[in-house]
Amino acid sequence: MQIANTKKELQKQIAEVALSPVGLVPTMGALHEGHLSLIRKSIETTPLTVVSVYVNPTQFNDKEDFNKYPRTIENDLSLLKNILRDNDIVFTPTDKEMYPEKDTREFHFGNLDNVMEAVHRPGHFNGVGQIVSKLFENVKPDMAFFGLKDFQQVAVVKNLVKQMGADITIVPCPIIRESDGLALSSRNRLLDPEIRKAAPAIYKTLCTAASMFPDTKVSDIKKFVDENISMTKLLKTIYFEIVDDEDLIPLSDSSPILNKSYYGCIAVLAGKIRLIDNVIMNQ
Ligand code: AMP
Repeated sequence: MQIANTKKELQKQIAEVALSPVGLVPTMGALHEGHLSLIRKSIETTPLTVVSVYVNPTQFNDKEDFNKYPRTIENDLSLLKNILRDNDIVFTPTDKEMYPEKDTREFHFGNLDNVMEAVHRPGHFNGVGQIVSKLFENVKPDMAFFGLKDFQQVAVVKNLVKQMGADITIVPCPIIRESDGLALSSRNRLLDPEIRKAAPAIYKTLCTAASMFPDTKVSDIKKFVDENISMTKLLKTIYFEIVDDEDLIPLSDSSPILNKSYYGCIAVLAGKIRLIDNVIMNQ
């Protein structure tokens, strides 16, 4: 594997390898099996994979969250060394490299700006738009791999590709979970042991909610989720919405259920740590 710390090095290495299609896997590091599954998928599909490892400050709406976000670059590089091929590239830029000056661009994602993560983390997707567009411009990938764990992010990135007029295929990849059901997340390592023990209730609750859909009223499913999550006293629901996978418009009791895929999406406060997860509601 090759390492690039600057955009110049990155572009030089990509040009020298001269293989296509090029696959991109953007990450913020603290790598786990969820990230590795995306990287494996990219390796399977493309002869050249670029993995970026960069904790992007502009997508954090909470300074404390940014400061305590785990940074484990040595461990990340040794995991990457085990799976990447000689030509594949790890891009590990500094803040100065990615933001030589303040990025004042504003991104708008239509209805995606009005629901779930966008409402509860103002500015988050603007930051995602800023960093992902910079990565797309510098790597010029043919394909980019994103995890469905960040369900709304997948929709945002698809929308970004359209806005940029770029010819990039977004490949959504399934959620990888611990054996007890907890979705893998870099933030899981910040959970207190007691809260970590309670956290599988998130996925369990989502699965039960899916089994209630569509026969039970949406408001009753929401009530069930809220009550079930808070039963442990260690977890608190920030939001739970049932949305379609195109426009992500939340269902209410009066919404018609169309011939679409619906996802139950949740954000939970686990102690001080914010976790998100989702399941398909209509298999
Ligand atoms: P992050 O480092 O949290 O920005 O995540 C980088 C990429 O890995 C994103 O596309 C995430 O959706 C994806 N990812 C994170 N956790 C998981 C998981 N448990 N399963 C699948 N993909 C994941």
